[in-house]
Amino acid sequence: MDERPPILIVEDEPAIADTLLYALKTEGFAPEWCATGRAGLAALTAKSFALVVLDVGLPDGSGFDLCKQIRATSAVPVIFLTARNTELDRVLGLELGGDDYLAKPFSPRELTARVKAVLRRADRTAAASARGPAVCHPLDDKPPGRGAALVVDDERCAIRYRGTVLQLTRYEFRLLKALAANPGRVFSRDQLMQTAWEDPGASLDRTVDAHIKTLRAKLRTIAPDGDPIQTHRGLGYSLRAAQ
Ligand code: CA
Repeated sequence: MDERPPILIVEDEPAIADTLLYALKTEGFAPEWCATGRAGLAALTAKSFALVVLDVGLPDGSGFDLCKQIRATSAVPVIFLTARNTELDRVLGLELGGDDYLAKPFSPRELTARVKAVLRRADRTAAASARGPAVCHPLDDKPPGRGAALVVDDERCAIRYRGTVLQLTRYEFRLLKALAANPGRVFSRDQLMQTAWEDPGASLDRTVDAHIKTLRAKLRTIAPDGDPIQTHRGLGYSLRAAQ
């Protein structure tokens, strides 16, 4: 049996498709190519793929629309290929269900690196959802053109807030990640301390307060109008639940 992960390429430019096919084969994948969205959808119905590389500009429609159609029935990871930088905002901002994107022109090596990273992340997400809730949650309001308010990227130890990567210290990252894992849940300072500090006994409750304060300041620089962290007097903190 073929153990190579099957990858579907939906791309109307044969030269680009050839490059992709060659690069992916070289890296141990089993790529297949469709030149139209319609053919891509048919291929996805016929068999399951480990990942889809999806061109945004297809002759029979937009890759974004195709992704929405795919998402109606499948959680297969999708990497968008975009021809124009102006499309990037849409890729990043709208909740199209894409997992990553590459702007043309890109190197084959860049593509295979992204494919591997997305597959690793998908593996971990599957393992995590088998254990419990995933760490990525859409939060409160979603301004037009933006995705989930707060997205935890464990791989890069980074958290994006309304599309912008927060510059966080180690403890701020751990605190916010803990809160984001359970929006709406109130954590006591003790619980947050246990989660975020290696040696909780050595720290004081007000360490949590101090880090929450710096976290809020950083979140405010991105969205002055919102405060996603809620203080519960005498209890602790929570991240506002999705509305
Ligand atoms: Ca195209």
